[in-house]
Amino acid sequence: MLEEAKKRDHRKLGTELELFTFNEEIGAGLPLWLPNGARLRGKLEKLLYKAHRIRDYEPVRGPEILKANQWQTSGHYQNYKENMYFTEIDGQEYGIKPMNCVGHIQIFKNSLVSYRDLPMKFFEYGVVHRHEKSGVMHGLFRVREFTQDDAHIFCTPAQVKGVIIEVLEFVDKLMKKFDFTYEMEVSTKPKKAIGDDAFWEATTKGIMDALDENGYSYGIDEGGGAFYGPKIDIKILDAIGRKWQCGTVQVDMNLPSRFGVEYITEENTKAQPVMIHRAILGSFERFIGILTEHYAGEFPFVIAPTQVIFIPIAESHVAYAKELRRELLALEIDSEIFDKNDSLNKRIRTAEKQRVPMIVVIGDNEVENQMIALRDRRKREQSNLTKDEFISMLKQIKSEDEI
Ligand SMILES: [Zn+2]
Repeated sequence: MLEEAKKRDHRKLGTELELFTFNEEIGAGLPLWLPNGARLRGKLEKLLYKAHRIRDYEPVRGPEILKANQWQTSGHYQNYKENMYFTEIDGQEYGIKPMNCVGHIQIFKNSLVSYRDLPMKFFEYGVVHRHEKSGVMHGLFRVREFTQDDAHIFCTPAQVKGVIIEVLEFVDKLMKKFDFTYEMEVSTKPKKAIGDDAFWEATTKGIMDALDENGYSYGIDEGGGAFYGPKIDIKILDAIGRKWQCGTVQVDMNLPSRFGVEYITEENTKAQPVMIHRAILGSFERFIGILTEHYAGEFPFVIAPTQVIFIPIAESHVAYAKELRRELLALEIDSEIFDKNDSLNKRIRTAEKQRVPMIVVIGDNEVENQMIALRDRRKREQSNLTKDEFISMLKQIKSEDEI
């Protein structure tokens, strides 16, 4: 396994496949996404955006820097300051956000919310900064700037179970899409905790009932919850059996209370909602690092940076390749044309090395008869299709692009 892990090291593959790089001039732990990596990431973002929208999440965005008093209210100033970056604007102290919760709370508070509006789900690809010590940084796994697939769900305590069931369905679809198996762990009330026993019992039971009813087996970390609520940790198992901590689902009554978050109840009184913090990937950086190692760079079609490579045998075949490339772009499929002066075999070898899912060689027959000679790397087969068959096959693949 160690041998295999070495081969799959995402830092090595990231350089080979030109996905990302780090640069001392820019600073440690600050990834630079190269075009291939940015295309892959863009596809993952798009896929997830749709997955959130069909589950009634609303996209929101908060600012990168917030007044320090917000971090005092949240408690980060007192408890998390050494991991944050601060700056000064107009003589006032500001903190760069290490999490997105505060922005989402202020967005929730921007309008009067009725019980009928709950659960209310906000999501954001939230860019956060945390000060990691220089010794612990490791490729994309530990960085100082990263983007969370973050969501906050505001609901009543009675809705917690239903919300968790929905989140579990989301997690399951996503994990299956990328061929991961996964494990769950529930962390319960620690010794030092806020909130009354009724809150802890109801929310912990809600989490466990949701898991039980969906037939999940899960571990329990007795007393391992945060001081403000119980949580579920999602642990991914990759292709070579390694376990990765990624997403979490965290029930919280602390921040709503600190920020005075309220909604109007059925009886026309004010009540405090529960806030559920939820990330499934955890962060795009870490998850893409894991995906790279899991697939050993052989990304599935849906997220592959380049999905098709066209190899025209001679100059006279380039125009057909260009026409195909344009048609694929309209389908939001990325392709490249390998028309350099290298020999045909060398170009095929280069395409193979880049682990691109589909390679299409174009010669006289293909141009004259509007045909496609396709090598499908994932299926390890070669086939000859008409251009129309090829396009409808790609459309079919695209239509299955859903989580
Ligand atoms: Zn949060």
